[in-house]
Amino acid sequence: MPPLSPTIIIGAGVAGLAAAVRLAAAGHQVTVFEANDGPGGKLSQFSLGEYRFDFGPSLFTMPQYVDELFELAGEKPADHFNYVRLPEVCHYWWPDGTRFTAPGDTDALADAAAETFGVPRQDVAGFMADAARKYELTGRTFLEKSLHKPGTWLDWQVAGAMLRIPTLDLFTNMNRVHERDLKHPKLVQLFNRFATYNGSNPYKAPGLLSMIPHFEHHFGAYLPAGGMFDISQSIYELGKRLGVTYHFNQRVEEIVRAEGKVKGVKVNGDQFHPAETVVCNMDVWLAYDKLLPGAKQPKRTLRQQKSTSAVIFYWGVKRAFPELGVHNIFFSEDYRNEFAQLEAGTLGDDVTVYVNISSKLIKEDAPPGHENWFVMVNAPADTGQDWETMIPKLRARVLTLLQNQLLAPAPAPKNADVQTQPLLADLIEEERIITPPEIERLTGSHQGALYGTSSNNTMAAFLRHPNFSHRIEGLYFLGGSVHPGGGVPLCLLSAKITAGLVNG
Ligand SMILES: Cc1cc2nc3c(=O)[nH]c(=O)nc-3n(C[C@H](O)[C@H](O)[C@H](O)COP(=O)(O)OP(=O)(O)OC[C@H]3O[C@@H](n4cnc5c(N)ncnc54)[C@H](O)[C@@H]3O)c2cc1C
Repeated sequence: MPPLSPTIIIGAGVAGLAAAVRLAAAGHQVTVFEANDGPGGKLSQFSLGEYRFDFGPSLFTMPQYVDELFELAGEKPADHFNYVRLPEVCHYWWPDGTRFTAPGDTDALADAAAETFGVPRQDVAGFMADAARKYELTGRTFLEKSLHKPGTWLDWQVAGAMLRIPTLDLFTNMNRVHERDLKHPKLVQLFNRFATYNGSNPYKAPGLLSMIPHFEHHFGAYLPAGGMFDISQSIYELGKRLGVTYHFNQRVEEIVRAEGKVKGVKVNGDQFHPAETVVCNMDVWLAYDKLLPGAKQPKRTLRQQKSTSAVIFYWGVKRAFPELGVHNIFFSEDYRNEFAQLEAGTLGDDVTVYVNISSKLIKEDAPPGHENWFVMVNAPADTGQDWETMIPKLRARVLTLLQNQLLAPAPAPKNADVQTQPLLADLIEEERIITPPEIERLTGSHQGALYGTSSNNTMAAFLRHPNFSHRIEGLYFLGGSVHPGGGVPLCLLSAKITAGLVNG
């Protein structure tokens, strides 16, 4: 079979990498242009001294979507990509000293929650069964298909889901669902947290999203053998084996069109590369702004509220903390207020802190007896806040919170001589801090939003940008800022949907 027409992919984020594999496996001659000096986008890595850090994602679910890519190419996934399922998915800490270790299995979760919180086991088991039901009814439609092709809506499964809309909690919010079903305030807070998995606000996001914990607790949470970057690296290597050409440090500056059709791209100034198909993995808002001058913009779609961003402290810590696991959450006192502050575009005094430590399982990620801490606080998308003033205050708050929970509270200066435990700040021997503007600069994500747009209203899923352009033949979109949205598994699914559309 002769090769199909040349196909250009803009961006080597995980979605662009996966689409390159799918299209090359289908016979396309694929070229990827990436502005950065390597693959991965948000799913990349870096080192500080002897510590390795994943830049962004730390929680990995649905590994089968990566495996599928190797299978598509006729390869055995385990020859190239390996991962372990975490028996304990997250260690939760509350300000009053309550601790809860959430098992990575639905039944064990219900048992453990009943024991720690003194709630009927059935409350949690029933809630998780309902999450499974919501996923089974809607997941295939919303996550695995283009919502903008009529065929999607002519499916019997979709018809079944439509009939059950009144039972899907679409018109209430996650917090209300959790209060109704789980009752215990700490369990409500714990399950509200899952709204942040797509950068949303649990007091606004539709109750249908209370299905999110089903991914982590039923399908499982995983860690790739070499860290999260293994995902990008292994898909990139697979693409190379399939003949994909990658150009790094090559920024696409325009998608060239004529007579309503794609003609190619302009790269690094004026270099023209022809193509009949262009697949854009760049944030869709910035793609319209920068690469498609004069194109009619889908204003309603592009105006949607952004997902949250984050401030991340990457710390090389010269001590081991056995009480911590791979994933750890230190909750704030007042979760509702924390989200109100985020909506107001600022960072509150009382924030929830997430600590991920890959070196718990991947020993090479830190020197012996030391740990690589990825310390993340949800932050508003960047709208010009004074980050330089905000970050030192946030750092001090985070250090105090972790100091109080993990070490003895820091002594008042006059009692400094009674100090018996080290100060956490003194244990940090390597540090890098990333803010929302930096996330935009390093990954080309508008306002540093982690997941594109938020899901803070019922219509958000329908308003996501389609995986193709209605107006420009040959132009396709994929990745965290378009359907079905952010998060590694959804980006991999968007690559599958888009490659399916390109392949017809
Ligand atoms: C701090 C953080 C924590 C996260 N945590 C998780 C998590 O735990 N689990 C999870 O599943 N997800 C998580 N996410 C979200 C996840 O990382 C993203 O949904 C996903 O990686 C996005 O992939 P993508 O392919 O859409 O785009 P990106 O990774 O954003 O890649 C886009 C690529 O396009 C390139 N590009 C942009 N413009 C151009 C241009 N003009 N020319 C050439 N190249 C260009 C960029 O350089 C970039 O490499 C997190 C994200 C961040 C930042």
